[in-house]
Amino acid sequence: MLSAGLNIVGFSWITSPAATELEMIVLDWLSKLLKLPDEFLSTGQGGGVIQGTASEAVLVVLLAARDKFLHRVGKNALNKLVVYASDQTHSALQKACQIGGIYPENCRMLKADASTNYALSPDALTEAISHDISNGLIPFFLCATVGTTSSTAIDPLLLLGRIAKENGLWFHVDAAYAGSACICPEYRPYINGVEEADSFNMNAHKWFLTNFDCSALWVKDRNALVQSLSTNPEFLKNKASQTNMVVDYKDWQIPLGRRFRSLKLWMVLRLYGSQNLQDYIRSHINLAKHFEGLVAQDPRFEVVTPRLFALVCFRLVPFQSDLDLANKLNHELLDAVNSTGKIFISHTALSGKYILRFAVGAPMTEERHVNEAWKLIQGQASLLLDSLST
Ligand code: PLP
Repeated sequence: MLSAGLNIVGFSWITSPAATELEMIVLDWLSKLLKLPDEFLSTGQGGGVIQGTASEAVLVVLLAARDKFLHRVGKNALNKLVVYASDQTHSALQKACQIGGIYPENCRMLKADASTNYALSPDALTEAISHDISNGLIPFFLCATVGTTSSTAIDPLLLLGRIAKENGLWFHVDAAYAGSACICPEYRPYINGVEEADSFNMNAHKWFLTNFDCSALWVKDRNALVQSLSTNPEFLKNKASQTNMVVDYKDWQIPLGRRFRSLKLWMVLRLYGSQNLQDYIRSHINLAKHFEGLVAQDPRFEVVTPRLFALVCFRLVPFQSDLDLANKLNHELLDAVNSTGKIFISHTALSGKYILRFAVGAPMTEERHVNEAWKLIQGQASLLLDSLST
């Protein structure tokens, strides 16, 4: 409410020094809470910026990386630039490639399957890069995900980061959802290897008690962003900008105007404090664990992928030998459950299997809600199975 009421339009530092300075401060705090490498702090060559969404975050870093490469190899080489990620990567990357003019045939969405728990295989990446180099292409961008959208898979940052470094690629880490969990020491190892990344993103508006929109992006080289996105029309010229002593966030993002979003994050960090935020994350993960345990006790169901955060991927398995029928049944179960209007679950597909997704993420969720939800799912499953057998 404060942020909206103040109605700051802070595109340049001069239009609201407080909005810019507070953004630098709170993103440094959050960076420290996540134990990100010091190069992401505003005190060095890097720094943090609040974007609207993870889609904007990956777009701006892709543009920065693209222009850095084109500057080196010549702008006619656009058709040679290659992007790498797993096929579990959010479609935001594909959209960024479309906007950034990356040739669709140069987007390598490498297959990830159950053998790696849907994480990107470093061997597959190395092979793809070697193949592309031998064909005269230029590998330039790798996007790894910590907490994929479908199943919260975790790409192995350390190994992938080394490959990116050896081959000179820009390495972006998308931790839009799971990044929040990494403020807890026990989950921080999931982003081990982030030291190798050029950029890192997490959505505070997903699982960090911050109102939409607030997507935190850190880069090690802020100049790469500025060189790609900066414009300097007469009507924006001012003394502060010309001294090069201040940050003009307009050069780190797509739009010119921007809200006072750092105030939201400041409020969350000051109001809750790190201990409460950690407890909040832990409580959701424990509730998801509880749900996972309930699913495991019912032989009609299976947990499909390992639960790592607060998402449980599960499905009904009465017709193991008939995948199509099992898929149809799970689809019907999803519709039946959601049609009750009492809870809402979503779905995905992994290796051809239709999978149900139970996510704990609302601040007011308690164990009794999880129990009621499971009872409802079981009840709808019984109705469906009965109707099949009659
Ligand atoms: N990346 C991941 C891993 C996500 O889960 C999502 C959204 O679900 C996104 C990116 C896109 O998020 P946004 O809506 O902030 O662009």
